[in-house]
Amino acid sequence: MIPGILRAIVVRAWLFPMKLFPIFADLKGRRVLVVGGGSVAARKVLALQEAGAAVRVGAPGLEPALARQAAEGGIDHVAGHFEPAWLDDVWLVVAATDDREVNAAVEAAANARRIFCNVVDVAELSSFQVPAIVDRSPLVLAISSSGVAPVLARRLRERLESLLDHTLGPLAELAARHRPRIRAALPDLGRRRRFYDWLLDGPVAGWLRQQQPAQAEAELTGMLDRGWPQEAGSVVLVGAGPGDPGLLTLKALRALNEADVILYDRLTSADVLALARRDADRVSVGKLPGENHDATQARIHALMVEHARAGRRVVRLKGGDAFIFGRGGEELEHLREHGVRYEVVPGVTAALACAAYAGIPLTHRDHAQSVRFVTAHCRQDEDTLDWDGLARGSQTLAFYMGVGQLEYLSERLITHGRAAETPFALVENGSRPEQRVVTGTLADLAARARAHGIHAPALLIVGEVAALGPKLHWFGQSLEAHGE
Ligand code: SAH
Repeated sequence: MIPGILRAIVVRAWLFPMKLFPIFADLKGRRVLVVGGGSVAARKVLALQEAGAAVRVGAPGLEPALARQAAEGGIDHVAGHFEPAWLDDVWLVVAATDDREVNAAVEAAANARRIFCNVVDVAELSSFQVPAIVDRSPLVLAISSSGVAPVLARRLRERLESLLDHTLGPLAELAARHRPRIRAALPDLGRRRRFYDWLLDGPVAGWLRQQQPAQAEAELTGMLDRGWPQEAGSVVLVGAGPGDPGLLTLKALRALNEADVILYDRLTSADVLALARRDADRVSVGKLPGENHDATQARIHALMVEHARAGRRVVRLKGGDAFIFGRGGEELEHLREHGVRYEVVPGVTAALACAAYAGIPLTHRDHAQSVRFVTAHCRQDEDTLDWDGLARGSQTLAFYMGVGQLEYLSERLITHGRAAETPFALVENGSRPEQRVVTGTLADLAARARAHGIHAPALLIVGEVAALGPKLHWFGQSLEAHGE
């Protein structure tokens, strides 16, 4: 979901860990000094003037547009070479000369007076930086690469420009004008959000796109007069996939963007959660090993019903797919019993994701005619698995929750007739940046997992297809039997 360009910026930010505090400054009527009289300075002057700043330009000479402004009184021109006294009554300073020494002198003088200073395109000398912006005033998007990749920030800006409708500005302005009334009519935050969603996606925006602002306003006030309809809350059971946010479905993404409350499991990745609407309440309901799982499950049931009854849109976010070893069925039964409306969004289950990201075609026609998803999460004294069936050839087995039982699993399979040379692949943290894949044969399964310190979550694939992993692998680390 994260565009490549954004990813690149994030990587740069990791390499140069510098965290800036974003602010939008009100410069109306405030004095700002621009040092330099060339074309770069002229661009900065224009941007500052758009924000209403009273601009002073200090430079020996001015390029034509600036000279005209000086003559007409648009700017206050101080002719000459930089002197710290120019900073006397200013709030901000921009150094836009092509002389490093002058820029450095401006920076030093500004720092001494605690005035924020931007040296154009020199991050090291700047105590504030000017972001690339997408202007839909009153809505303004500012993009910063912390000064380390301005070209990327500008490219991202271009993309956002093309994505964001030009009616956003008028729409924000309209909403701002009616804000007190909207707040009064819809004191509940969740309902108010829905109203704003309607504003953005519904007929009001449509009228604005057709250049009919009066109709747009009538639509908005009409809705407030009629009263925003009462809504029932609901639950969307969403499969979050195995970790890579790119594996979310579009429906899952939409549900995350519309959620008021997100009840998430331990296995859902931080990258996926980061895509959810920012102001949604995020509640961790993960089950910890050793905890009373039934009590936790009961709490999840209660929370879903409670939030939905309060009219909220609940997303119940689960790792992989909710119906594959995810207790999703029980949750729906509970919702049905309590009359709560629900939807289900399937997710990419660990077996499919791990196989794909380890280069293992689960049913390669030369090796397997079927694939079975098996839970290994059973106490050995309560083991009711059909081992004779599982040990049969020409099929692939995908074991979930098996890391603690590898010795037992391989022993059972071999005892029931599966060859000791049957290949396996153990995929730890499938699809995540830290993914590791250990391969080998059933006979040495537990030993190899131990040697590499494999931990949950890991998925075990058993069958001839597992041998294709080392050949077809394309993602992350592969710890081959003979390759390390
Ligand atoms: N509903 C989930 C499975 C929950 S059971 C799904 O459809 O994937 C939890 C087990 O899933 C873990 O013990 C592990 O075997 C497997 N699993 C989940 N995410 C995984 C991942 N990223 N990599 C490897 N195995 C994973």
